[in-house]
Amino acid sequence: MLLDIDLQNYWMPFTANRAFKQAPRMIASADGIFLYDPEGRQIMDGSSGLFCVPAGHCRPEIADAVNTQLRTLDYTSPFQFSHPGGFRLAEKIAELTPSGLDRIFFANSGSESVDTALKIALAYHRANGQPSRYRIVSRELAYHGVNFGGLSVGGMVKNREGFGSLLPGVVHMRHTQTVKNSFTRGQAETGADLADDLQRAVDMYGAESIAAVVVEPVVGSVGILVPPQGYLQRLREIADRHGILLIFDEVITGFGRTGQPFAAQTFDVVPDIITMAKALTNGSMPMGAVATQQYIYDTITGAAPEGSIEFFHGYTYSAHPVATAAALATLDIFENDGLYERAAELTKPFQDAVYDLQSLPLVTDIRSFGLLAGIDLLQADRFGERGFAALRALFEAGLLVRVTNDTVILAPPFVATAQQLEQMI
Ligand code: PLP
Repeated sequence: MLLDIDLQNYWMPFTANRAFKQAPRMIASADGIFLYDPEGRQIMDGSSGLFCVPAGHCRPEIADAVNTQLRTLDYTSPFQFSHPGGFRLAEKIAELTPSGLDRIFFANSGSESVDTALKIALAYHRANGQPSRYRIVSRELAYHGVNFGGLSVGGMVKNREGFGSLLPGVVHMRHTQTVKNSFTRGQAETGADLADDLQRAVDMYGAESIAAVVVEPVVGSVGILVPPQGYLQRLREIADRHGILLIFDEVITGFGRTGQPFAAQTFDVVPDIITMAKALTNGSMPMGAVATQQYIYDTITGAAPEGSIEFFHGYTYSAHPVATAAALATLDIFENDGLYERAAELTKPFQDAVYDLQSLPLVTDIRSFGLLAGIDLLQADRFGERGFAALRALFEAGLLVRVTNDTVILAPPFVATAQQLEQMI
């Protein structure tokens, strides 16, 4: 017994492998692209710690920055004082976002960022004299976190079960994985017209009732669904036509996953609001952020003459000094180590290796974009014990396995070598 805890006696609210009905797997330490269990076994981290750790685990630069910050200023309440790091970080994030998205609100997670973004959208319309705009449009396959807003707009109905209606008036558009088992690499050529579901929502409910449309540019946790060519552009056009705000949830795609700092740049579509978290601190500290267009900020804060000062926002830990220090160190690593460029360079060898799996009988579909891949497997239960063992082996190899829909998601750290990527796959 390596741990003197009887795990069976503890109920864990979330453990990665509860679905395996076994004691949770423990990780004791991590270094670079590797995780180590309590027995010292090495596991390759093929999901970058759930999309969080592109720069590799336990970076000394981040540890040093956190340590120094803890000895300098461990906390200050954003309701009382600001601190220079918060402003420096807001400026750095604004340098990375597409032009115009330079007003930054801080949160402590992806879920909080999403709820903050939805609140900003509603506040914008209210301050702009259109309080009737309360509906949010999203997609039926999407993950936007576990707080009330994110659950309401999220596409996984099961996650909302038992809560009744959360945010009122949410409309779900169809998802974009229209062609099954096509092994399409990158963006499909057809399917952009699915964005017309937004127009249909306008026709059905009236533009004057719709505040925003929120989408993950590439749908992540639900299985890496890549938008068809022109889909995001079309959403942008329809949203513009009807005064609807476009929100990109870039909690997964932010900070280089698609080869540019944000997927908005990769797809060349500028949203009104971007949410981010995860890789912002390389996973080391809880932090999220929301970037908005200046006109939105000005309207909700009263900086614009027609705006009203009625937007109340701020968490006790917004721009927490220690998380801020971790984020600043992370963004320095990205810059100094050329990690955005590296992510772009690794994309081809990564996808080549992923698409080699196409010939395996267990694999029924592969979707990939940037350093993200979703690999659908034949139903595990059809394989009985053997299939289950195969899934477990993948899990042990450090790959995130979603047992519910039998999809393996790969999201390698950007610091992996091309050779390590091949081994991983
Ligand atoms: N939005 C997206 C697109 C996500 O993938 C996630 C988490 O995976 C979230 C929001 C929620 O983030 P968090 O778990 O940090 O609250």
